[in-house]
Formats: sequence, C-alpha cells, structure tokens
Amino acid sequence: MPHDTPLISTIVGGLVLAFIFGAFAHRLRMPPLVGYLIAGVLVGPHTPGYVADQSLAPELAEIGVILLMFGVGLHFSLKDLLSVRGIAVPGAIAQIAFATLLGWGLGAFMGWPTGGSLVFGLALSVASTVVLLKALQERRLVETERGRIAVGWLIVEDLAMVLALVLIPAAASIGGEGHAPVEPLSAGLNRLFGLDLGIGGMIAMTLVKVALFVALMLVFGRKLIPWTMHRIAHTGSRELFRLGVLAIALGVAFGAAKLFGVSLALGAFFAGMVLAESELSHRAAQESLPLRDAFAVLFFVSVGMLFDPNILIDKPLPILATIFIIVIGKSVAALLIVLAFKKPLGTALTISASLGQIGEFSFILAALGVELGLLPGEGRDLILAGAIISIILNPLLFFLCDRMRPFFEGAKREDVVADPAAADAIAAQEETPPEDDEVHPTALSGHAILVGYGRVGSIVGQNLKSSATPFLVIEDSDKRIGELKAQGVETLMGNAVMRETLDLANLAGARSIAIAIPNAFEACRITEQARSVNPSILIVARAHSDAEVDELKHYGADTVIMGEREIALGMVDRLAQVHHESVPYEDGHGPDTIMPADEPPPQRE
Ligand code: AMP
Repeated sequence: MPHDTPLISTIVGGLVLAFIFGAFAHRLRMPPLVGYLIAGVLVGPHTPGYVADQSLAPELAEIGVILLMFGVGLHFSLKDLLSVRGIAVPGAIAQIAFATLLGWGLGAFMGWPTGGSLVFGLALSVASTVVLLKALQERRLVETERGRIAVGWLIVEDLAMVLALVLIPAAASIGGEGHAPVEPLSAGLNRLFGLDLGIGGMIAMTLVKVALFVALMLVFGRKLIPWTMHRIAHTGSRELFRLGVLAIALGVAFGAAKLFGVSLALGAFFAGMVLAESELSHRAAQESLPLRDAFAVLFFVSVGMLFDPNILIDKPLPILATIFIIVIGKSVAALLIVLAFKKPLGTALTISASLGQIGEFSFILAALGVELGLLPGEGRDLILAGAIISIILNPLLFFLCDRMRPFFEGAKREDVVADPAAADAIAAQEETPPEDDEVHPTALSGHAILVGYGRVGSIVGQNLKSSATPFLVIEDSDKRIGELKAQGVETLMGNAVMRETLDLANLAGARSIAIAIPNAFEACRITEQARSVNPSILIVARAHSDAEVDELKHYGADTVIMGEREIALGMVDRLAQVHHESVPYEDGHGPDTIMPADEPPPQRE
C-alpha cells in the first residue's frame, strides 16, 4: 500500500472480521455480538497479528451510538418520554446509587482511595446504550411500555453521566485526591467574573446548558427539522433525503456535544424525537438503518479491542466480584425498584435484564479516573473485563428472565393457596387491569391469526371482523394494540418471531395465519414455525420481491402475495377502465379511493 490508511484498515478489519466471526457465532447458535467481540479481541493490541487503530475504533463506534439513539428518538414523542419519568428518574438514581455503593465497597476492599472507588462504582452503574438498545430492538420491545421505561432510564443515566464527567475533575481538585485540572469553562468564568462556581454552581451550570439545548430543540428544532425534511422529501431525491437524515442526526448530536456539553447520544435522541411526530419519521428510520447497524457492530469490535484476556488468569476473584455487581447486583436492584412501583413482573424482569451490563460510558469514566490519578490501572482493567463479560452474558440474562417469569408467577399463585390471607390481597391486585404489555394465552381455536396490523394487516383485520371470523392479532407496537383493544379485537402483544408468542396465539389449534409484516426474514421464521407446529394450517404471507416469494414458499407458505405485483395489477385495472371504455367503472376504484403509494417502489436491477 502506498501510504498508511489507519481509518480504512480499522473499518475494513473491524467489519470483515466481525462479519466472519458473527456468522460463525450464529452458526453455533450464539448471539452474533459474541463474534463481534471476539473479532475485536483479535484486532486488539493484546493478541498477536494485525492491530487496528485503538483511538479510531471507539470514535467510529460513537457514530453507531448516535444513529441508534436517533432511531429510538424517532419512535418517541415528548409525551412518551414524560410518561415514564415517574419511574425512570427515581429508578435510575436509586440504581446508580446502589451500584456505586457496591463498587465503592469492592474498591475499598481492594485498598483503593475513596475517590477511585467511587469512580469505579459509578462506572459499574451505567449501562451501555448500544447493548441496551440492540437487545430491545432484537426483541421488538422499543415501542412497548417496558421498552420506554428502559429507554427513559437510560436517558437519566446518560444525564447523570454528563454531570459526573463535569463533577469528577472538579471534585478531584477540591478533594486533593489525584491531580485534576480545573474544568476550563469554570476556570474561564472564574477569571472573567471573579466568580467561584464551586460544585453546586457547576451542577447548575451543566443543568442549565442541558435545559437550554432541550428547550432549543423543542422550540426551534421541532419546527425546523421536520420542515427541512419535508422540503428534502419533495425534491424526490432519495439520496438527498438519506443525506439529510444523516446530516441532522450527526449534526445535532455533534452540536449538542460541542456547544452544550450534552452527550452525543442525548443530542441524537432529541434530534430523532423532534422528527417523531412527522409522518416522515418512518422513512427517516429506514434510511439510517444500514449505517446504524454497521457502526453499532464497530462498537462491539472496539470493546473487544480493549480487552486483555490475561486478566482472567491474573485476577479471577476481583473479576468475579465485578461481574457479580454488574450482572446480579444491578439487576436485582432494578428488579426491586420496578416492582416497588407496582409494575408487572415481566416489565421488571425486562428492565433489569437490559440494564445488567456496562459499556461505553464506563470506559470513559475509567479513562478519566486513571487520567486524574484517582483510579488505579487495575480498576480500569476490571471495568474493561467486566464490560466484555457482562455484554456476552446479557443475552443469557434475558433468556433466564424469560424462563424465570413463569416460575415466579407460578410461585405467586401457590402462595395464594397456602396463605388465604394473602389470597385476598392478590385477588385485589388481580382485579386491577393488567398492563398493556402483559400477555395471556388465547382461548380461541379454529381461528385465524393475523400477524401485524399496519397498512396491510389492518385491511385484512377489518375484513375478518366484518365476516365474523374468529381471529386475533399479534402486534409489537403497543400503540396499535391499544387501538385494537379499544375496538374489542383480541390481541397479543409481542414479536411474532418468538415461539412463545405463537404458542400463546394457539398456533397448533388455528386454522389459518396471515403474516402481514414487511420483513421477509421475520416472515420466513414465522412461516417455518407455523408449518412445523401445525402441518395443516393455511399460511398466507406478504412479500416484496420474487426472491422473497420463493423463500416463503420454501418454508411452507401456501399463498404468498407480492405487494408490488398487486399494486401493478391495481394500476393496470384502473388504466383499463379509462382506456377501454367498454369496461365499466368498478365501484370502489374511483380516484378518491386510490390508496397512497406508501410502499417503496420496486428497485430496478
Ligand atoms: P405495515 O408495513 O404498515 O403493514 O405495518 C406492519 C405492522 O406489523 C406494524 O404495525 C408492525 O408493528 C407490525 N410488525 C412488524 N413485524 C412484526 C413482528 N415480528 N411481530 C409482530 N408485529 C410486527
């Protein structure tokens, strides 16, 4: 190669190896992220061979964080965010306090100074945005109540981190521990106005800056950003639209960080949120998906790069204690906090599982702690090892929580039998209506199952309803579930790809299933399971290309309707009515009833 290209080699090395090991992990029935982390360890400095650039990888990963948070923001309205503040704010603060206390205890036991132990504890208390959001997205939980609580919780943690990053250097310089420089902004203010901000002043200053950013976004951003996107959409250029989405997500995040000291993630979240109410948010989300996924993978690679496997041999016990705090200590604390708010067990388990890991924030805190001379190098090594192991264990934690739920619920019912006094209390509790995202098995049989109630499913559903066919809808968007419940339609909240959801819909006893979701990968998984559980069920599926039709048929679908083909036939039909006047106008095909063309046009080769 004629010259050195660290950026290209880091992206290429990271993505290629992540792809190879991710695919390998998938083959071994492990989550792909384990493969990405291993790819990171391999391109890291602690293993022989090629070493990727250690400062570039985390920076690239930040782009993944920005796009992830932007995407989540697109699904959030201000109302959604405010609706979870009652639990997310006290919950996150209590959990941070608890985890910090545990970390501080471990640090004190290891003989570290108080400041260092506190930084260590704080680093163990904040969950990784990427890991949490990916886990929620994989399980299609972002738009459920529990998903919103988890995201709200994450945002509070993020804000707490913004404060911590300002306060730790200041506290270090005041407390005399370490060798901290004074924060440049407050030093400048001190000089300018002869002010001494002190810790309280710094907290206030940081909060004012965050509030200023939020206010600007809600007042101006809310108008300007959707307006810009609409203008770009009207140019008809997909390329410009895509670019606009990226420019807004990255630009706002960067501006928020540089001008207001808000984290990149939080900036991106607000950029997405102000677009959420616009009908373009759906398209914006789609356009940012491929880059988001690629850069989020680089996050895992960059975490892997930091990991030194030798620590497992050198310090097995402190590592075990660290992991215990992250995976068990934090999760149990979150579980109890959510239960204390009288949320259902399922919600509490999901939230605690999603928070039982640490990641990027912890690395920043660890680096800061070491730089200020507060945290010993050993503490940073424990944080790095704790992060990678807790990320690997995270899918397992979700799995265990799913398994534990029926067990706990069963135990609750047995208590009722054993203790008549408790029975009344529980009966009273059961009278309160279940949360939106609580699911119960159906009593239907010989019924139709409708998967997805969007543009396609809603028309199918209305038809089933008017023909009095017994049916239920599986949907993962709680807004849609709410609408359906209001109409008296039986619903099942959840991802139809999960076997549990299909079982709750009594797949084995159903007569037909209509899979009206746009993602063919998911539709294939559902088809495959439906066919294996119920060989005689009628499977009708939706596709967008010939390849998808073949694939769905291969997995056992009886009839596959290709959206684009039906649109074309509809057009042909309408044109024929005009051009061959002998063909009479059909009712319902007048110009007023033509559906908006909201499907993406078929791609020409
Ligand atoms: P549309 O593309 O407008 O027909 O919308 C599809 C609908 O299906 C949306 O309401 C989604 O929330 C829902 N959906 C998509 N994938 C799944 C899935 N795997 N499980 C349950 N619902 C889904």
